[in-house]
This record gives sequence, structure tokens and C-alpha cells, in this order.
Amino acid sequence: MMSRSRVRTSQKSSRVSYDMRGPLAAQAERMRAAGEDVLALNLGDPAAFGLPPAPEVVEVVRDHLGRSCGYSSAAGLPEARDAVARHYRDKGLDTVRSCDVYLGNGVSELAPLSLHALLNPRDQVLIPAPDYPMWTASVVMAGGRPVHYLCDEASDWCPDPHEVARRVTDRTRAIVVINPNNPTGAVWPREVLEGIADVARRHGLVLLADEIYADFLYDGIRHIPLATCAPDVPCLTLGGLSKRSRIPGYRMGWLALTGPRGPASDYVAALDSLVSLRLCPNVPAQRAVETALRVNDTPALTAPGGALRVRRDHLWRLLTDIPGVRAVKPRGAFYVFPRIMPGKYRLGDDESLAADLLHEEGLFVVSGSGLGPVSPGHLRMVTLPAPDVLTDATTRLARFLDRRRTTRPPTANQGRNRPPRRPCVGSTGFLPGERRGRRSSS
Ligand code: PLP
Repeated sequence: MMSRSRVRTSQKSSRVSYDMRGPLAAQAERMRAAGEDVLALNLGDPAAFGLPPAPEVVEVVRDHLGRSCGYSSAAGLPEARDAVARHYRDKGLDTVRSCDVYLGNGVSELAPLSLHALLNPRDQVLIPAPDYPMWTASVVMAGGRPVHYLCDEASDWCPDPHEVARRVTDRTRAIVVINPNNPTGAVWPREVLEGIADVARRHGLVLLADEIYADFLYDGIRHIPLATCAPDVPCLTLGGLSKRSRIPGYRMGWLALTGPRGPASDYVAALDSLVSLRLCPNVPAQRAVETALRVNDTPALTAPGGALRVRRDHLWRLLTDIPGVRAVKPRGAFYVFPRIMPGKYRLGDDESLAADLLHEEGLFVVSGSGLGPVSPGHLRMVTLPAPDVLTDATTRLARFLDRRRTTRPPTANQGRNRPPRRPCVGSTGFLPGERRGRRSSS
């Protein structure tokens, strides 16, 4: 007889969400399948927007496929772990050895694993708000409690370390830092990082530094690895090839443990045991690590005239040209986090804003409320698409907002007083061979 009992789900899983791929993403997919013109700016997937990986990285994986059929050691291939350790020593983390490095199927595997090894029920983890929601979800799924600390839009989305300190309780175990930041594009300066390191030092906390966007920096800004500010604090630095080498489909990430070894020895044993449960990371992708860390072509993309730099400038300018829309200019990563200011438009809550944008304009972006506790009216948009796609996206957003004005639009004469939109100077933001009018498929 067929069972009719309802399958119950865990309470934990009902408390997590990931709006980049949530119900709205499914709706966007259905609309696209029905032949509608959907512009998806929801995922930070460079490959989906036609940004190819360095050919050497693909070649080395292809050349080693025949030798990559078996499991590797649980923490990863020695040569790949060596390459990551060398990479961090070159960045000033002098003590990193290959045994401090664990490879994984993306940061998305290693972040939950590092929390499972750390947390007991109701332990708390401090997480930036807004957040890349994987962190909040991973804390919940590891049985812990996420406690958000505020990143202040008025301070270029930097947190105040004193406010971080005020959130510490006797149940706090760790502080997450995402730098450069998704979704705000902020790159936090040394004094903020040192302040946070100091909070961890004073309260005996672990630092979890998600630095997957460390190579995506604009306007000459420098990225400071958090671990360099905290050599005396246990710190896990997470990174990978999804963004740097533009191969998110290969699923390759890592974590590197720094800080005092003695006090972390139980934690290391827990990590060793958890990584062995998943047997090993994707072996073909591990073959890419050494080459990918040798070839760094991201500066060519982010320097003046580089495709990503031009796209960041283009999207930011178009967004901030829309009346009532403000955005802090991103200094890193590839997202803008604009806010539709209250008052000028009749808008529902963030969720209905994103849903209405999709239904009315075929524009799929992630709402601010999907990224943790932030003030209403925020949207996250990726800066990765070609300039004409970004123009199309902002035209849709502006048209949508225009229908919701609370005040009458300016007359033709008043309109003429608006400063003319500056054209993009320098490169076109197109990559060699890239067709104008191309649409993302993710
Ligand atoms: N961390 C941040 C801040 C991200 O934005 C992303 C993906 O967008 C990830 C981690 C996931 O990276 P991975 O592809 O290595 O799992």
C-alpha cells in the first residue's frame, strides 16, 4: 500500500533561504521557458555573462582528466594545498603551511563544514548585515544562531567595530567578515578589520574571513587579508576559483587556517574528521589550483578600461541617474546595492518589489530583504553583464518606477535642467568577440 504520511521537514531548514535561487528564480525560469524576455541579474556567475576563464586553467584540467578518476586525500591534493599555502604566504600570511589548507567543493561547502566543526546548539555567530545569505543559512543549519551586525550605508557600508563588540555575548563563538563584500561591493579598510580582529582577540572568538572576491578591486583600492590583522587569533580565510578564475561550475574553493596552533588543535581535529566524511573535493578541479593561482588576469578586467571596471561604472552611473535611487559606488566584487529612497515611489515591501519587477518588466534582481536585516528599498544587481544589457536593465527599472511615482514627473522644461548623462569613456566594456544584445542565460 502506498504511504500517505506527509514527509516532515526539519525546523532548521524552514528557517533558511537563498533568494538568488529561490521561488522567484523558479518563476523567472518559467517565464523564460514560456518565451518571455527575462533579464536575470541575480547570480554572480561570471561564466553566465560571457567572461571566459584563462585558457591555461581549462587546459590543465582537461590534460589531467585521465589521472583524476580516483578520490584524493580528504583535504585535497598536496600540490594544490601547497599552491594555496604559497599564495597566502605571498600575501603576508607567513605561517601558512599546506597542512593548514583544506580544499573543498567551493566556499559553499567549506563554510558550513567549518561551522559544523565549531558550533554547539544555540552558539552565536556574528554576521554582517546585509549578508551573503549562505553564511546566515549555514549557521542555522549547524544549529547555531546568527546575530547580525550592521554595515552602515552612510559609512560606505562599513561596520563600526564598537557595534560589533556590543553584539558579543557569552554564547558568541565567531565573527564572519565578507571582504570585498557581497552584496555591497564595499572593501573594508585596515582600521575596521583591525577593530574586528581586536573584538575577536578580547573575547576569544574565531574569525571567518570570506575573501572570495579578493582579486576584484577598483580605483586602486587595496585588499587587506583579515588574517594579517590577527596573527594571534584563530582565523579561517576562505577563497576559491569560482570568481578569480571564472569557473564556478568546477566547484573549487579552500580554507586556510592561521593563528595560534595549540588552542586550535581540537578544532583542527574536528575539521579533519568532517572533511574526511565527504571523502574528498572534486579531483579534476583541484588540478586547476596551481595554474589558476599563477595566472592572475583579473587586474586586466578591473583596471581603467577593463571590462568589469567599465561595467561597474556604467551600471552605477545609470542607477544613480534614476531620480530617487541612491547607490554607494562599489570598490570591489561585482555587485551594486542600490536603494530606492522612500517617498518618491509607491512601493510594497522588498519581496513584492522584486516580484513586481520580474512580472512587469522581466527584470530579475535580488531584494534587499533576501540578504538579511537591511532598511527597505534595496536591491542587489550584478555588474557582470555587457553594458547594453545593463542599460536595458536600468531602463526597465526606471520605467517600472515611473509608473509608481507619488509625484508628477517634471515638465519638459524642468527635464532639460537635468545634467546630461555622461557617456562611458574609454573601453566599451565588451570583451573581444562579444556580441551586443547578448542576454544572460542564468
Ligand atoms: N562567498 C560569497 C561572498 C559569495 O558571493 C559566493 C558566491 O557568490 C560564495 C561564497 C560561494 O562561492 P563558491 O562558488 O566557492 O561556493
